[in-house]
Amino acid sequence: MPIEFKLPREIEKQLQSVKVVAENVMRPESRYFDEHEHERPVNFIHMMWPQMKEMERANLEAALRRDRRLRENGGGGVAVAEEKQTKQRLGNMTLVHMIEMLSWGDAGIYLCIPASALAGAAIQAVGTPEQKERFLRRFTEGEPKWGAMAMTEPQAGSDTSNIQTTATYDPETNEWVLNGQKIFCTSGKLAYEESDGIIVVWATVDKSAGRAGMKPFVVEAGTPGLTIVKEEKKLGIRASDTVSFVLEDCRIPGDNILGDPEVKKKTDKGFKGAMRTFDATRPIVAASAIGVGRAAFEFARDTLAKQGVRMEYNKPRWKLSSVQADLLEMEAQLRVAWLLTLKATALLDAGAENKLAASMAKVKAGKVVTWVTQKAVELLGPLGYSTATLAEKWMRDAKINDIYEGTGQINTLIVARTILGYTRRELK
Ligand SMILES: Cc1cc2nc3c(=O)[nH]c(=O)nc-3n(C[C@H](O)[C@H](O)[C@H](O)COP(=O)(O)OP(=O)(O)OC[C@H]3O[C@@H](n4cnc5c(N)ncnc54)[C@H](O)[C@@H]3O)c2cc1C
Repeated sequence: MPIEFKLPREIEKQLQSVKVVAENVMRPESRYFDEHEHERPVNFIHMMWPQMKEMERANLEAALRRDRRLRENGGGGVAVAEEKQTKQRLGNMTLVHMIEMLSWGDAGIYLCIPASALAGAAIQAVGTPEQKERFLRRFTEGEPKWGAMAMTEPQAGSDTSNIQTTATYDPETNEWVLNGQKIFCTSGKLAYEESDGIIVVWATVDKSAGRAGMKPFVVEAGTPGLTIVKEEKKLGIRASDTVSFVLEDCRIPGDNILGDPEVKKKTDKGFKGAMRTFDATRPIVAASAIGVGRAAFEFARDTLAKQGVRMEYNKPRWKLSSVQADLLEMEAQLRVAWLLTLKATALLDAGAENKLAASMAKVKAGKVVTWVTQKAVELLGPLGYSTATLAEKWMRDAKINDIYEGTGQINTLIVARTILGYTRRELK
C-alpha cells in the first residue's frame, strides 16, 4: 500500500471550513456549556444539521447500493471491493480529520452533533437493507436527530459478556420484550426524549449462551417501557448528554433485532461481527483525543512563547531548558498518536483488517491526551489551573478518551492478544 502524507484537496477544503466553526462557534461557547451542564448548544446543533443530513444520506445510499450489488452478485465480493475503492476511499479519513478539528474546538460540544453515530454504525454493520431504510432514513430529513448505543450496565462495563438485560421473544405479538438497566449512555436523552432518534440496546436472549446470546436491538424514540432515570454529572465533556435508563417490559417489533436472532451456542461470531463496529469507531475516539491534546499543547506553546520560551527543533536536547524539552515531547507524542490513527483509518478505508491498528491508536491517543493536557496545566502554573483559561477544562475533557469504547487497559489487552496470538481465555 503506498504511503501518502499529503492531505487530499477534498479534505483540506473541508478542514478549512470546520476550523472556522471550531474557532468562531465552538471555542467561544466552550466555557458556557462546561458550566451549564445539561443545557444544549442549540445554535451549533442547528448549524451542523444540514451537513450531517447530507453525510447521513450519502452513507445510507452507499450502503443500500452495496447491499443491492451484493444481492445481484449473489453475495459475491466484487461489487463490494469496487465500491470501497471508488466511493469510500476517503470516507473515514475525512471523518477523523474533521473530528480532530472539531474536538480541538470543543470535545463536549462536538459530541452534541446530531447523527446516527454508534447506533448507525451498528445498523450499517449488521442491519438488513429494510432495517437501514427504516432506522437510518430519518437521519437524512426533518429535524435534528440522535442515535445512541447502550451496552454498559452497573455490573457489565469492560466485561461485556456479563450483560444482564434480557430480551424475550413473544410469539403471540411478534415482539421482543426488554428488561434491564443501562448506564452511561451517550446522547441517550437526545435520542429517546428530545428527538425522533434511536437507541441500539444490547441484551441477552439466552444467559446460558454467554456472548453468543448477546444481541443488539433497536429501540425507537418514545417507545413505552424505557425510562431515563439519571442525567450524569461529569468530570469533563460536560456538554455531552450521558444518561442511565431502565427497561421495564419495553416491547419492540420482532424485526428490531440486528443480525441473526438465532443463538448458536458454540460460536460468538455474531457478537464478534457486531463488535467490529469498534474497529471503525476507535480511530474516531483517538482523533477526538488528539484534537483536545493539540488544543492544550498549542495554547501552552503560544502562551510560553510570549514569555520568551521558544520551540527549538535544531538544538541537542542537553542545550534545551526542561520546559522546552517538555514542549517538544508533547508535540512528538501527539504526532505519534496521530500517525497511528491515520494508519488505522487508512486500513479501514482500504477495506483491510484494522483491529490491531485501531486498538493501538486508541490506547496511545488516550494516554497521550491525558499526559499532554496535564503537562499543559503544569507548565502554565496558576494560569493553567485557573478557569481563566481553558487549559484545566481540556485536562478534564481528556480522560474520557482513555475510558469509553474500551478502556486503555482493555485495548492494551487486545493489542497484546493480537500480537502474541493468545485467545481471550488465555490472556485476560
Ligand atoms: C462519559 C461516558 C460516556 C459513555 N458512553 C457510553 C455509551 O454511549 N454506551 C455504552 O455502552 N457505554 C458508555 N460508557 C461506558 C464505558 O464504555 C465504560 O465506562 C467502560 O467500558 C469501562 O467500564 P466500567 O466503567 O464498568 O469499568 P470497569 O470495567 O469496571 O473497569 C474499571 C477499571 O478496571 C480496568 N479493567 C477492567 N478489566 C480489566 C482487565 N481484564 N485487565 C486490566 N484492567 C481491567 C479498566 O480498564 C478500568 O480502569 C460511557 C462512559 C462514560 C464515562
